[in-house]
Amino acid sequence: MGEIKLDNLTKEYGDLVAVNSVDITIPDGSYTMILGPSGCGKSTTLRMIAGLETPTRGDVSIDDEIVTDLPPRKRDLSMVFQNLALWDHKSVRENMAFGLEMDGVPKNEQNEQVERIAEILQIEDKLDQSPAALSGGQQQRVALGRSLVREPDVILLDEPLSSLDAKLRLEMRAELARIQQRIGTTFVHVTHNQEDAMSIADEILLLNNGQIQQYGDPIDLFEDPNNEFVANFIGTPSMNLLDATYVDDGEQPYIDAGGFQLAIPEAYHDIYRENIPSRDVHIGMRPNKLRPARNGGTPDMPSFDASVSMVETFGDANWYYLDAGTDEDLIMKTADEDVIQSVSTHDDLTVSVSPDAIHVFDPEKGEAYT
Ligand code: ADP
Repeated sequence: MGEIKLDNLTKEYGDLVAVNSVDITIPDGSYTMILGPSGCGKSTTLRMIAGLETPTRGDVSIDDEIVTDLPPRKRDLSMVFQNLALWDHKSVRENMAFGLEMDGVPKNEQNEQVERIAEILQIEDKLDQSPAALSGGQQQRVALGRSLVREPDVILLDEPLSSLDAKLRLEMRAELARIQQRIGTTFVHVTHNQEDAMSIADEILLLNNGQIQQYGDPIDLFEDPNNEFVANFIGTPSMNLLDATYVDDGEQPYIDAGGFQLAIPEAYHDIYRENIPSRDVHIGMRPNKLRPARNGGTPDMPSFDASVSMVETFGDANWYYLDAGTDEDLIMKTADEDVIQSVSTHDDLTVSVSPDAIHVFDPEKGEAYT
């Protein structure tokens, strides 16, 4: 078991609040990523879970036991550090067995356990070599193996992919997800890379300035961001965000984005009226939610006219920069072959967006109204 509860967890360094009242439960057996920009409090949160940092306030519990005052070795967890900290003068086997040796586990049991884990990690033929003779990805596995052999309830990983080149990074991240699924241990992994988090996490804890911005399923963060920070941080390219006015004359509510207007379909009138208290709003639309309208649009799909100012091609998808009369171009991202074949620079088109994919934010606080 490895359920982790963070109860109002707070860390202050003098006047700086590095982690501010983080209050979440990380499910047993999940792969959870702590995500956010540099300095947002990710490592401090991880280090408080590990017991390497003492909270100013709040508690850490593992499986309903409060461990806030326990030293790291008394917590049933293991941490994989960014710099791996492998000993080159010892063999891979000795590196991996280190924790077991410290725990006084008999040699034959150490060997059995190391060999079992080495097989899972596919480094069983490297056990008698020095880590210095291995590739970056293999060294990463040794560091992970050293944690896994002790069969902790929780594995903590601090930016484990950051020193790897782009291709190896993708391989290793899929490998981490596979290993985690196979052994079922709770993984808590710190990253600043939203694509890593989106691709493999079961749960994402997105922090900014020490505060939770959103905690949940990657798809929820993508489809239903709590605020503009989440909307902007998650997704490539970022969500299109615009200053706009919400207008309701009692009949047809619409959004005036300056260069174009979006009529709100009837089925959404009540939601808009109940949730949007101001005229000034920000609106957001994900690039992959914009698409050329068929037959010039329909009443249940808001649409607007735009011209294509530039196209970026990626082979598997195109990004269309759309001039719709607003200060900055909007981006439409599509992998639809029909669109890729038929739409090019300087074309005029009508673009539609599902009403579910129009996000309306409080322009002051950035929180989502809808
Ligand atoms: P992240 O891992 O998201 O980059 P950190 O958790 O390392 O962020 O740091 C959060 C904030 O706390 C940063 O502003 C950082 O400068 C500050 N901080 C971290 N450790 C200390 C420390 N030991 N003393 C003072 N400030 C610290």
